[in-house]
Amino acid sequence: PFDVLVVGGGPAGASAAVYAARKGIRTGVVAERFGGQIMDTVGIENFISVKRTEGPKLAASLEEHVKQYDVDIMSSQRATGLQKKDLIEIELENGAVLKSKTVILSTGARWRNVGVPGEAEFKNKGVAYCPHCDGPLFEGKDVAVIGGGNSGIEAAIDLAGIVKHVTVLEFAPELKADSVLQDRLYSLPNVTVIKNAQTKEITGTDKVNGITYVDRETGEEHHIELQGVFVQIGLVPNTDWLDDTIERTRMGEIVVDKKGATTLPGVFAAGDCTDSAYKQIIISMGSGATAALGAFDYLVRN
Ligand code: FAD
Repeated sequence: PFDVLVVGGGPAGASAAVYAARKGIRTGVVAERFGGQIMDTVGIENFISVKRTEGPKLAASLEEHVKQYDVDIMSSQRATGLQKKDLIEIELENGAVLKSKTVILSTGARWRNVGVPGEAEFKNKGVAYCPHCDGPLFEGKDVAVIGGGNSGIEAAIDLAGIVKHVTVLEFAPELKADSVLQDRLYSLPNVTVIKNAQTKEITGTDKVNGITYVDRETGEEHHIELQGVFVQIGLVPNTDWLDDTIERTRMGEIVVDKKGATTLPGVFAAGDCTDSAYKQIIISMGSGATAALGAFDYLVRN
């Protein structure tokens, strides 16, 4: 069996694997797609100490760093179940079962898509999901934010300080964000809020040039010219497969303590699949290191 088995090969999992392997303990990583979300990222400008890089390049460096150590990397493998017996068992989709004394869950998350024409086509060409990451690319431009929940309104407030104008499109008749956020939003001069708006299409040629929505009250179609669309309708953690084995929040995020421990002894978690406050590469790597040190500590004590 492994001493530490990491499930997920994104920034959090890679960091956890390096930290575990450096303790000289038997470490494995099982991942559906090594690299994780950064494989879909073009420019990364906030990974501190690296002024600018690209996602696939960072993913290759992560893999290279993990392979410096004696880590068993099992790629293209999907975990479908977790059970605690004498050891912790991870079932894979192909029927195999991996056993380990400790497990670090780092299966990440995915942005919920609006699923309209143009969204996939213009991803990274005006369609964005992370204001902390891509906001500065739209300096002085007009953008829309789809979604009037807390994350949408936080994004709109954040973007309003960088871009020329922000249009918020909310499907429902009311914004769902906390009232303090709404008050702040409505105090800004360069924000327009459109409720009852059903996004129909993100338009463009080689990059985004506008958005079309239907006013759900009147049925009328409208088009706004702009250069960017931030989709903020939810970040979904990849944790369904865990069922009730460990505590998760209402949103499905794995609840962890300050050492990265979950409610099941020996099982730790890190990165975007957890209830950590913000979801960023540098934050997920930090929590991967925390979870690996937490797992090592657990091994020493048990
Ligand atoms: P992930 O990167 O999501 O990795 C999850 C890993 O788990 C993957 O290997 C996946 O294949 C695997 N996995 C999932 N389910 C299973 C399963 N059942 N069995 C086995 N393996 C599984 N952050 C920044 O800091 N700066 C940026 O500029 C930036 N830009 C971004 C741009 C885009 C388009 C996106 C989508 C995200 C961006 N982010 C950015 C956010 C950043 O990518 C994430 O915060 C980070 O990747 C989280 O790392 P993670 O390891 O927790 O999860």
